[in-house]
Amino acid sequence: MVIMMKLNAPQHDVEKVKEKIKQNNCKPHLITGNFKIAIGVTGQTNKLSEEEFLTMDSVEEVVRVSKPYKLVSREMKPSDTIVNINNFPIGDKELTIIAGPCSVESRQQLFDIAGELKEMGIKYFRAGAYKPRSSPYSFQGLKEKGLEYLSDVRKELGMMIVTEAKDNTALPLIAECSDIIQIGARNMQNFSLLEDVGKLTNPILLKRGLAATIEDLLMSAEYILSEGNFNVILCERGIRTFETMTRNTLDLNAVPMIKKNSHLPIFVDPSHGIGIADKVPPMALAAVAAGADGLIIEVHNHPEKALSDGFQSLTPKNFRIMLEKIKQIAPIVNKTMETYVNAK
Ligand code: PEP
Ligand code: MN
Repeated sequence: MVIMMKLNAPQHDVEKVKEKIKQNNCKPHLITGNFKIAIGVTGQTNKLSEEEFLTMDSVEEVVRVSKPYKLVSREMKPSDTIVNINNFPIGDKELTIIAGPCSVESRQQLFDIAGELKEMGIKYFRAGAYKPRSSPYSFQGLKEKGLEYLSDVRKELGMMIVTEAKDNTALPLIAECSDIIQIGARNMQNFSLLEDVGKLTNPILLKRGLAATIEDLLMSAEYILSEGNFNVILCERGIRTFETMTRNTLDLNAVPMIKKNSHLPIFVDPSHGIGIADKVPPMALAAVAAGADGLIIEVHNHPEKALSDGFQSLTPKNFRIMLEKIKQIAPIVNKTMETYVNAK
């Protein structure tokens, strides 16, 4: 249920509505739009009566949300959510590109790649310090040491850091060392992790699970919002299908479907989506054309030596060539790329 307040509703009227929601054992969530305030209500809202709220001061409208996900839905909040980080907003007109290696391998490796990306105008640098690998014998990441190197990149190059939280234990440290916390595909339904990141204010990049429907993804996002963290960015990264020629099947249907059903920004990860480096650029272009708010791309200076996902990692040179093509597609879908530097 969502309770729309009248324009310029006084604070004490808003508080009275919130109080009444709590008296009914439900939870109020303040949603501030451009002009008006709305109060999302979660819990057993079927027991609430619309009339009870409609008769209260400054209440304009009471709308029942038909979807199983509530706070995430466009019914609850019609305007796009913009996640604002250090003056580089996500989900607004400017396309956001997160780039970097799959894993932190060494301090030198991070600085070499980050330095090249920064020159191209990349502001968000990705690399995993804690890696959820299919095999327990594969490289598991540098863990705390990896976070230390990422913090150095943040401090010395002024880039924003995107890194994965694999479990609840390392979460407080990751929250401190990063600007966006990534929840990986394998953890999309780790509900205790979702609840914990929901209690933070850090932006969360929530990736779609390997065998999750679009609705499953939205329900997982709902866990985070229902705990109070509205700074969520969704990410399509490919799903398992009967196709074996590619690593996953990048489901670009998710982009317009999520845009229609949710106010949250939607990113696409073509690197994991297709899993083959030279096929990443066409899928990245397609994702932008489909209306994605951003991309997350794996870039490695020596893909053949990478400790994880080298096969799907672009070299900085090929990443730059792709970036120039994206610049041509972006304006067609009303996206800008003003903060990216033109190739020399
Ligand atoms: C990654 O981004 O390197 C990663 C492990 O992604 P996913 O969770 O989508 O597999
Ligand atoms: Mn990877």
